[in-house]
Amino acid sequence: MRYSHSSMETFRNCPLQFKYKYIEKVDIPIKNNIEAFMGSMVHNTLEKLYTDLKYNKLLSLDEVLDYYNKSWTDNFSFDKVEIIREGYTEENYKSLGQDYLKNYYNTYKPFNQGKTIGLEMQVNISLYDKERQKTYDLIGYIDRLSLVSDNHIEIIDYKTNNSAKTQQEVDVDKQLALYSIAIKEKFPFVEKIDLCWFFLSAGIKQVSTRTVDDLEKLKQETIEIIREIEDSKQKNNFPGKPSALCDWCAFRSICPFKAHDVITKNLSENEYLKEEGVFLVDKYQEFTEKKKALLDEIDPEIEKVKEAIINYSKKNNLEKLFGKEKSLIVKEYSSFKIPEKKSKEREELEALLKENNFWPFVSDLSYIEISNLIKNGFFESSFKEKLLKYLKEEKINRLYLNKK
Ligand code: SF4
Repeated sequence: MRYSHSSMETFRNCPLQFKYKYIEKVDIPIKNNIEAFMGSMVHNTLEKLYTDLKYNKLLSLDEVLDYYNKSWTDNFSFDKVEIIREGYTEENYKSLGQDYLKNYYNTYKPFNQGKTIGLEMQVNISLYDKERQKTYDLIGYIDRLSLVSDNHIEIIDYKTNNSAKTQQEVDVDKQLALYSIAIKEKFPFVEKIDLCWFFLSAGIKQVSTRTVDDLEKLKQETIEIIREIEDSKQKNNFPGKPSALCDWCAFRSICPFKAHDVITKNLSENEYLKEEGVFLVDKYQEFTEKKKALLDEIDPEIEKVKEAIINYSKKNNLEKLFGKEKSLIVKEYSSFKIPEKKSKEREELEALLKENNFWPFVSDLSYIEISNLIKNGFFESSFKEKLLKYLKEEKINRLYLNKK
């Protein structure tokens, strides 16, 4: 299997989605989401702009936009593209792409910041896993490769998502860093390789570099994730990882975590009531809420009866009471109350127990353990006195309902 940054990202985000997409290659009619569609239209247009520049042909902004609009019209259809976010139309997304292109064009015209030496350029990377004695093959595509000077190359990626990454984020981004391994091998004379992201929505260009050590570390991390994938393949273990990304997942109509949501979203109000799954979930919710309401009502009553039983048994010096069908044993225990977590007293008590090597005996300050140890004379009297400064003795009553 040939890996890619995108397949590894898919595995990280949701192993089940990885299985559908790359192992089973599930054949279902997949719709592109409109964000991805708009992104690909913008990418195609920029590719056209730079391809023409290679032939000394500089497109005007109008020609660039015409190309974009025509590509959009030729490729868009609601059978193939879906809008996930409510309240936005095809036109909204289309004009967003136009804005990105206008902004980019006006900022970088006449596009002489470097010489384009690759467009949508395929790169191949081989990583050798010494431990498993295997070579993993990776493939990637660089949006544009630009030769800035004789020994300086920029690896360029256009981003059309809403938000730009921060410098800290691009400094740890893996995709372009991986591609730089292949570029260094292909152009060994190049001394400086910059990783560049054009965040078209914000009109920002972010640049980052990697040292030899950074790349060695990245190779190792990549090998580790591929090993994880290989292990999952061997065990056929690809758990679903539901998240906010599910709404953009092409396999949600067959995924056990989302399929029912897809079905019910397409039902009208009346049909809702007839759908068995919806009915069962609603019933379960109804009974769970009823149960909670009953418990909320009955728990305080039980406490009141318990208090009355304890008073009655004490007043009459009785330890066992009898009802019509059952008997009830009333037991009083003495116990030691541990100071609240994170309180000063608690910290001092912990320190005292640790200093005197009693910590392993008190099971993380279980009041039952401590009470038993004190009652059984485990601590010598001078240490017990020190302990009792922190422990408040209290009485606990318990009721045991039995057969008569
Ligand atoms: S819908 Fe969510 S959980 Fe299911 S495969 Fe897609 S991303 Fe994974």
